[in-house]
Amino acid sequence: MSAVRPAHAPVSQFPVVGDCLQIGGLPLTELAQRVGRTPFYAYDRSAISRRIELVRKHLPGSVHLHYAIKANPMPELVRHVAAQVDGLDVASAGELEIALASGVEPAAISFAGPGKTDAELARAVAARIVVNLESEGEMERLALIGGRAGARPAVSIRINPDFELKSSGMRMGGGSKPFGVDAERVPDMLARLARLALDFRGFHIFSGSQNLRAAAISEAQEQAIELALRLAAHASAPVRSLNIGGGFGIPYFPGDEPLDLGAVGSRLAALMPRVEKHLPQARVIIELGRYLVGEAGIYVCRVIDRKLSRGRVFLVADGGLHHHLAASGNFGQVVRKNYPALVGNRVLGTERECASVVGPLCTPLDVLADNLEMAKADVGDLIVVLQSGAYGLTASPTAFLGHPPPGEILV
Ligand SMILES: *Cc1c(COP(=O)(O)O)cnc(C)c1O
Repeated sequence: MSAVRPAHAPVSQFPVVGDCLQIGGLPLTELAQRVGRTPFYAYDRSAISRRIELVRKHLPGSVHLHYAIKANPMPELVRHVAAQVDGLDVASAGELEIALASGVEPAAISFAGPGKTDAELARAVAARIVVNLESEGEMERLALIGGRAGARPAVSIRINPDFELKSSGMRMGGGSKPFGVDAERVPDMLARLARLALDFRGFHIFSGSQNLRAAAISEAQEQAIELALRLAAHASAPVRSLNIGGGFGIPYFPGDEPLDLGAVGSRLAALMPRVEKHLPQARVIIELGRYLVGEAGIYVCRVIDRKLSRGRVFLVADGGLHHHLAASGNFGQVVRKNYPALVGNRVLGTERECASVVGPLCTPLDVLADNLEMAKADVGDLIVVLQSGAYGLTASPTAFLGHPPPGEILV
């Protein structure tokens, strides 16, 4: 009926028993009954733990691992992750609340993000967390707020580097950017910082996201370290924290290959002696969001209607872009590509077909899978979108068209 499509990147993190996907050790059909409704997101806690172990195994032992909450801020999930990592990165006062409730010590929480309000900065000061300064103006405001509170807030400077993370899904460094302070302005900023009642901790250099190329990540890490070494010479206090970003990607689309974590780890291990020699007090931090949780989550919706339109099969589901904007291709993608998706209660099925899974919204943008090869599905079957543990629910316009929000469960 339609041209042969390239096979998806291999996704094998969930076992299949009796042709039914298992998540958290449960058949999907049973889990759906337990949740009591569709659509819902489900996150597998053991898959998250396995991923964190894998990262620990490959990264040098002295490197600290942080979780960037924005990837998935579900409080139960954050608590689960927090118990296994060395710190949390937040990007709003709302995320700060979740981070504090997870039980992580405040000194291991850092707050990045442009446009922090005075109210947010005051809460950060009161919570005694580290603020990653995004501008000189923010530094002045924080010093005032700290002074009023009789505190000396801990700060790192977020640097907009003079290099870019190559082959990155989302670039957040290099050139003109709203994030961080241009590297060439940091020496003057450090001189000013030394005269303010701020406790300088170090640097934060985050250059991009969703990168599958180990060589590009290693190059960015090396450049971040070299930049930090150059700028440290201008600091009035030793660098105690060096956050070299993250950006580790996961495979989503046909042709994507998983990141070679071993290669990233060994290149970083080779860089560590230089950091230890020149910045002996610095703790090197890697911050990851998507890589820790993205592959551990699925989005599940149910087929409400099956339609044939001029030769094409449409499975109309009760879920769509209002719950999962990224899978619809409208969260930063340039060309729409299918997330891996399957029929969860008949993974192989007895018959296969090419079908398009669409949502209930009255817009042609509401597509979860476009002409994807899958088991032939009927009304009542469960459609599963894989790789949905990061930038799913909270990155979606849930109010659009007034459908109820999805369920969410950690199993
Ligand atoms: C978004 C973000 C992250 C997390 O990125 P992932 O691609 O999910 O790993 C980490 N650090 C900063 C500063 C961010 O803005």
